[in-house]
Amino acid sequence: MRSMAEEIVKALPCGCEARTYRDFLGRVVGTIVTRSPTCQRSEHALGQTVIMPGRENARPE
Ligand SMILES: [Zn+2]
Repeated sequence: MRSMAEEIVKALPCGCEARTYRDFLGRVVGTIVTRSPTCQRSEHALGQTVIMPGRENARPE
């Protein structure tokens, strides 16, 4: 397989795992690739894209 982008799989605090990359706005987003059995967040379904938490997305406002 060829790597198309800087894709990194990261574990979320809830236990899910997401493949992260930057979207066209430069935000770090993740596609859920592993759903934690204990995760309570309905948006963390396989294949869903979520905004990743982190200081790169933090805004000093
Ligand atoms: Zn989750």
